Amino acid sequence: MNRDQLLRKFKNEQDKIWDIIVIGGGATGLGTALDGCTRGYKTLLLEQSDFAKGTSSRSTKLVHGGVRYLAQGDISLVLEALHERGLLRQNAPHLVKNQKFIIPNYTWWSGPFFTVGMKVYDMMSGKLGLGSSERISKEETLKAIPNLDETDLIGGVIYYDGQFDDSRLAINIAQTIVENDGVALNYFKVSNLLKDKEGLVCGVRAKDMESGEEFEIKSKSVVNATGVFADDILKMNDPQAKKMIRPSQGVHIILDRSFLEGDAAIMIPKTSDGRVLFAVPWHKKVILGTTDTPIEEHSLEPKALDEEIDFILNTAAQYLKKDPSKKDVLSVFAGLRPLAAPEDDEGKETKELSRGHKLIVSLSGLVTITGGKWTTYRKMAEDTIDKAILIAGLDFKKCVTKNMPIHGYVKQTNYADHMYVYGSDRMKLLKLISQNPELSGKLHDNLPFLKGEVLWAVRHEMARNVDDVLARRVRALFLDARASIAMAKEVAIIIAKELGYNKKWIKNQVKEYTALAKSYLLE
Ligand SMILES: Cc1cc2nc3c(=O)[nH]c(=O)nc-3n(C[C@H](O)[C@H](O)[C@H](O)COP(=O)(O)OP(=O)(O)OC[C@H]3O[C@@H](n4cnc5c(N)ncnc54)[C@H](O)[C@@H]3O)c2cc1C
Repeated sequence: MNRDQLLRKFKNEQDKIWDIIVIGGGATGLGTALDGCTRGYKTLLLEQSDFAKGTSSRSTKLVHGGVRYLAQGDISLVLEALHERGLLRQNAPHLVKNQKFIIPNYTWWSGPFFTVGMKVYDMMSGKLGLGSSERISKEETLKAIPNLDETDLIGGVIYYDGQFDDSRLAINIAQTIVENDGVALNYFKVSNLLKDKEGLVCGVRAKDMESGEEFEIKSKSVVNATGVFADDILKMNDPQAKKMIRPSQGVHIILDRSFLEGDAAIMIPKTSDGRVLFAVPWHKKVILGTTDTPIEEHSLEPKALDEEIDFILNTAAQYLKKDPSKKDVLSVFAGLRPLAAPEDDEGKETKELSRGHKLIVSLSGLVTITGGKWTTYRKMAEDTIDKAILIAGLDFKKCVTKNMPIHGYVKQTNYADHMYVYGSDRMKLLKLISQNPELSGKLHDNLPFLKGEVLWAVRHEMARNVDDVLARRVRALFLDARASIAMAKEVAIIIAKELGYNKKWIKNQVKEYTALAKSYLLE
């Protein structure tokens, strides 16, 4: 996947009309473009920044049905998500692993209560289930999670869900699009919609953010898959459009594995704010989260609030032997849920709003897809393309993504090797490193990433700058922001050599990245 080649392909086809243009390169837009091009439609995806720069790199990294939604009685959402969980593990097994979760029980009633609940969850998973839930004793619970606070602990309930690397999956989906004759361009911002004499949407105006060149691009249908930015596109369509999105912020904290040893994750089913809190092993660290805070302003780099950080640390301290404090935090990141807000839900708190997805068709024919979850991205995409076909009057072709492997697919995965995320590309990456032995060293002692992974990311995964590499190709920014700052210069030098940038570019990149990464640190 190479940006220059894709740009050439795009320019060569400029006089033609695309079948589908997708605005937004997060989970929803990438899934939609993949669905479109694999059905045989001429499909173009435009992302204003990097793929998954927005919410899609900031999730809890769970491929799940949603135990919380089961408790809320949202049965159809849980059924759909559990089915999609199974498909995603089947189609991208190199990135989606089976994760054991334990709900610790501190009251006499919680054991039987959660055992029954999780049996229902198992049953709803059907053939695609990941393992049977079971009630375990206090001793077994402590064996699985040695760091759990023992005071008043009665036992636990085990269940299984999926866990993944969100931005790596986004990159692999983009690669699958390109392999299926689609075009996906990052750093390409849509600034307006084109309309014909009847007022129907017939394309977009967009700018290549690297060269500054502007384009008018014609298409039979346009899909707005811009997450929390969806209202901005709806306003381009109709300046009087009502707000459809209620952004809700969720924060995560990364800690060292000494806070959660063993392979099991913890699910705390009822926190003081009425949500659930997860502590999950992820790339040899622990991810703790999350919160649900309504936010007025949306941005690509939302900031964690002090009260969100305190809430996560205080709640975790109630359940862990070793209380985590601010100085233990390796990285903190915030993401915005693009929740669809129907009018009759106006008074509701964001945590009560449905996580189901919503399709809106404007009078102009613009199709907007919002809400949903990473887990259900494939089904959201299928529904969106079905709608776009209808609106644009395209010849109907059936969705083919249900059993379609994602780029990188391999059956066997060795999770002990940090390069497992590359799946079928791992051997090619190792070959690249053996051909460039100067790139075989690590970028930092605290993290496993090699210099060769930077070159790979630029050459084959369309990384364009230091942030693209350290945040979304390797996950250094999210795993240890301070270490990632120390890696920035080396990374900038490798990128500059490959893309032909000068010393000034390197200096600017290090400065910009350092400022960004500091906002992932607590002091
Ligand atoms: C805290 C948190 C935890 C979560 N945890 C989970 C989880 O564990 N499991 C799960 O299944 N789901 C989870 N989710 C939900 C999931 O992450 C989201 O549903 C999903 O990532 C949304 O993807 P999206 O593509 O709709 O939005 P985004 O990822 O935000 O993508 C929208 C994209 O549109 C681009 N864009 C905007 N305007 C323009 C323009 N004018 N031109 C071009 N591009 C534009 C943006 O740059 C952005 O990249 C979580 C969400 C949050 C916030």
